[in-house]
Amino acid sequence: MIAASRFRGARSVAVPWPAPVSRAPIAPVFLPHFGCPRRCLFCAQEAQTGVAAKAGLPGLLGAARARLAGRAARGLPPAELAFYGGTFTALPGEALGACLEFAESARRAGLISAFRCSTRPDAVDKAVLARLSAAGCATVELGVQSFADAALAGVGRGYTGAQARAACSLVAASGMGLVVQLLPGMPGGGPGDFLADVRAALALGARALRFYPCLVLEGTALAALWRAGAYAPWDMETTLETLARGWLAAHGAGAAVLRMGVAPGEELARALLAGPWHPALGSRVLGRALLLATSELTRGLGPFQETARLALDAPAFTQGHFWGHAGELRERWAALGLRPGDVRFGPEPLLRLRLEE
Ligand code: SF4
Repeated sequence: MIAASRFRGARSVAVPWPAPVSRAPIAPVFLPHFGCPRRCLFCAQEAQTGVAAKAGLPGLLGAARARLAGRAARGLPPAELAFYGGTFTALPGEALGACLEFAESARRAGLISAFRCSTRPDAVDKAVLARLSAAGCATVELGVQSFADAALAGVGRGYTGAQARAACSLVAASGMGLVVQLLPGMPGGGPGDFLADVRAALALGARALRFYPCLVLEGTALAALWRAGAYAPWDMETTLETLARGWLAAHGAGAAVLRMGVAPGEELARALLAGPWHPALGSRVLGRALLLATSELTRGLGPFQETARLALDAPAFTQGHFWGHAGELRERWAALGLRPGDVRFGPEPLLRLRLEE
């Protein structure tokens, strides 16, 4: 919320600006395509995770235990175990049991602080959520991708927006934290759909979100559509601007955005055919979010003469992305009336815009 004040011929408006969330380190166990009932059009999890699907579950859990024990031997604090990739709650009974036993025993041994998992909305029900909760699961991440029926059908997700909403509500009511993963830019999904998805996820109780803009990866059905000219991914500018608006909506609701964009890696670089990928996508989005929020603040100041001077106080932790990647936002800041000499970085977690008349 914008707060305005006036003192000695100067006006100022301010909004709180959240410091980055400091989280326990994550110890991921990637289970690419394990438990998946189908292959979604956009998905190439080996490329996204760098883990081959042929790696068996015992080997993956064994490697995870060795990594956790290695952390403990080095005196590092317990990490949060995360089962990512695939459809965790649709694993065959024995495999799911092995993962839950692994997590429980790691927790009893003090190797992990908690665990989380990611799964599909149509693979959760009360019974499986109760099982996760009893095993000590703290957070369930739902790969919702979108709540729009047309976008879901377009990528062969196999569930509807109503099912995705019901799954979010079930997780939110289970006492475990709900994280919603969204995939902006799927076939049939525009910026307005994504922003509606963000609002829906927040209204359904998501404590945090992840934004993974849709990419065209080799070996997927989406790549065939793209080659046939039947699909075009979002361009970078649309992606950055739209994600910034989504980030601001999450921030306004007190929810964190845990990740924006797929992490870099050799496999991803080899598989990426098209789409808005950049190694600094998250910080580029944050720079635009600052710009959009400040632009909104200028409107909060009311009318002022062109000769008036604007000055901005911003939190020190924004300094790294404030002017954009390689200074890409400097001209847009200048168009708002703010040049480097007008911006002061300090310890307060807020954006305060001052007008000196
Ligand atoms: S997107 Fe999720 S559910 Fe679809 S194939 Fe990939 S891992 Fe499985």
